[in-house]
Amino acid sequence: MKLRTMLKKRSSIQKTEYRGPLVAFAGADDPTFNKLCDIGAKGHCHPKSLLKNARTIISYFIPFTESVVESNNIDGLSSLEWVIAYVETNKLILDLGHHLKTIIGKGGFETYVPKPTSNFDKKTLVESQWSHKHVAYIAWLGTFGMHSMIITERGCAGRLGSVITELYVENTSASYSQSETAAKKLCPCNDDGNIPPCIERCTFGALTEDSLDKFLCYKQCLKNAEHFRDFPLADICGKCASGVPCSLKIPGKINIKTGK
Ligand code: SF4
Ligand code: SF4
Repeated sequence: MKLRTMLKKRSSIQKTEYRGPLVAFAGADDPTFNKLCDIGAKGHCHPKSLLKNARTIISYFIPFTESVVESNNIDGLSSLEWVIAYVETNKLILDLGHHLKTIIGKGGFETYVPKPTSNFDKKTLVESQWSHKHVAYIAWLGTFGMHSMIITERGCAGRLGSVITELYVENTSASYSQSETAAKKLCPCNDDGNIPPCIERCTFGALTEDSLDKFLCYKQCLKNAEHFRDFPLADICGKCASGVPCSLKIPGKINIKTGK
């Protein structure tokens, strides 16, 4: 069953609706996996340490609809719609991972399904095993914005997932330019001398033009988790991804596939 068909089927039994997903493929031998520390993913496992004969990492982005994103364009705690979308999409990512494992398994190939979230050490906030975000960068599903989220062709407001598989799929990272120029062009609202909108949206002091304070950010995420404690763990915030130029699309004129 195709990713789009599965999302459609799920949407009949859950509240959250989505825009069309994006998919990209990284080779397990991609040299960037040896440089995970350099791209801020200290503690991240190499795909082959999770699946010995891994050949491909399937990375995908499930974009939230505009109404979910706009609901979170308010100050303070996350909107209920945003929290529901987060919780339901985590479940969807897990189901989708196991679905892919089953169908790929029919061809005789093993697949490893990483957890949809919380793949980090709660004390150091360093990725302890697997970061869907860094994998999305390596597969060139998008690249990091100033808010440290991945900006894809359909923006940054949504959820990323990935699986590691023995199945070979031609990788997209080789055909996509990973130039620094491309990454910089993705944040054009950082060039006009004004405070970038993502920083204005972070009223918690976590995001500045110099860096993201992961501890302050996680503190706000835990405030949301406490407020929405009747849900499965909702340790999110997402204000810097809501109501900003890159929420739903790439804000500049750059073509992410060519980097121009
Ligand atoms: S709001 Fe602007 S500066 Fe901030 S991440 Fe998005 S594109 Fe970049
Ligand atoms: S997720 Fe929330 S706390 Fe973290 S940087 Fe974005 S706006 Fe700030």
